[in-house]
Amino acid sequence: MTRQVVVIGGDAAGASAASAVKRALKRDVKVTILERQRYTSYSACGIPYWMAGQVDGPDRLVVRSPEEHRSRGLVVRTRVEATAIDTDRQIVTARDLTSGEEEVLDYDDLVIATGATPVRPPIAGIDLPGVHGIQLLSDGLDTLESLRSNPTHAVVVGAGYIGIEMAEALQQRGLDVTIVDMAEQPMRSLDPDMGELIASEMEGMGITYRGGEPVQAIEAASDGRVASVLTESASIPADIVVLGLGVQPNSKLAKQAGLPTGQFGGILTDDHQRVEGYRNIWSGGDCVEVVGKLTGRRMHVALGTHANKHGRVIGANIAGGDLVFPGVLRTAVSKVCDLEISRVGMRQSEAEEMGWAVVSAVVKAHTRAHYFPGSGKIRVKVIAEKGTGRMLGCQIVGMAGSAKRIDIAATAIWNGMSVEDVASLDLGYSPPFSPVWDPVQTAARKAAGMV
Ligand SMILES: Cc1cc2nc3c(=O)[nH]c(=O)nc-3n(C[C@H](O)[C@H](O)[C@H](O)COP(=O)(O)OP(=O)(O)OC[C@H]3O[C@@H](n4cnc5c(N)ncnc54)[C@H](O)[C@@H]3O)c2cc1C
Repeated sequence: MTRQVVVIGGDAAGASAASAVKRALKRDVKVTILERQRYTSYSACGIPYWMAGQVDGPDRLVVRSPEEHRSRGLVVRTRVEATAIDTDRQIVTARDLTSGEEEVLDYDDLVIATGATPVRPPIAGIDLPGVHGIQLLSDGLDTLESLRSNPTHAVVVGAGYIGIEMAEALQQRGLDVTIVDMAEQPMRSLDPDMGELIASEMEGMGITYRGGEPVQAIEAASDGRVASVLTESASIPADIVVLGLGVQPNSKLAKQAGLPTGQFGGILTDDHQRVEGYRNIWSGGDCVEVVGKLTGRRMHVALGTHANKHGRVIGANIAGGDLVFPGVLRTAVSKVCDLEISRVGMRQSEAEEMGWAVVSAVVKAHTRAHYFPGSGKIRVKVIAEKGTGRMLGCQIVGMAGSAKRIDIAATAIWNGMSVEDVASLDLGYSPPFSPVWDPVQTAARKAAGMV
């Protein structure tokens, strides 16, 4: 009998897992992907750039279409939603969203890769026409529909990375953009001293940042569409509202089937991405909780980098392999207008809250030799363990060429290196690329003098 693998969700984690199993087991396995949209393997990360008009969408954002997956031997059922999982009988019930018909699929192995959903707090008016969460390609299409009526004012609620990327996109389309966030500084994944730089740079680029202002309500015009966003101190005109309040694991189906979920609502798995307590159910991507490599604590981190790696691990393990997902450092890069932003590991505030004794060093430097054309400002913060000097975190805010320097720090932290080790690394130097001391090394050197 051919082994049956059913995969719920056909994007980063699900499609990667499906492809890896098929590649490994070939004719010995039938892999069926159930995907409720009409797209598979798309780049949600590209949505802000599509909205800005920098890249085409939605088809251009598809990395591998259902037809391409089919040509590689996968069974791909689009516009089909999994509605229930029965773990005793090893079946998934699914509904065809076009015909409304129900069907039941048997599985030997099941992969749950249902992703995340944007947070929509119970604020009055949050479901008004013209208020958009940004998660799926269909959200991009809906947002473009709202933009067709040539709106003037946009409000982005929430200043995480999706919020600021969308703020830039809307500004590039010529809208007057305000970001509202309950926190004083944008990007809570950074320490406040780095976040404040982003607020001031955004202001300089014409995006208004209103920090410390929780949204109280979203109000409608007489035609029923969104008209303004109300905070304690202002009524901000808004012809379109974008929600950037983060995401939560889409684990409802798993919960209903009795599968374990954690304190952040994500599905719990072991380090092989096997759902805890189940031999033949696997899960990965935005619907699971991950383990922080530095702290050993579970957390929810919705990033495509992790989802793709989870898919690879799941696929290999279903095929009889022994791959481990080793945890995360929350390495992330982003940008708003000309400003690049990146972070890895622990924030200073986070480490201190956990009772870790840390030192931190901040340096201001240049992205290239100071005299070289195009050299821009860069600020780097390094966090290290007091005593040992082990590098624990790094945050970078600066002009072109800044963000991806975080990978030096990510590699160092991953390998348990000290700030002294980082200061001694043999990195490349030439005036068009870097000052003679790379700014990450300058910050590490400064921290090394403090531990
Ligand atoms: C605007 C934006 C920008 C981003 N930028 C970055 C970035 O720069 N870098 C980065 O690393 N990450 C980024 N991300 C995050 C990244 O896109 C996600 O982490 C990644 O897509 C998660 O993959 P996934 O497979 O777990 O979930 P998803 O990509 O959400 O896929 C889950 C799929 O499951 C389907 N599904 C759900 N329930 C069912 C069901 N019951 N039946 C059938 N199908 C179902 C959904 O339709 C969806 O297609 C960004 C996300 C967004 C929204």
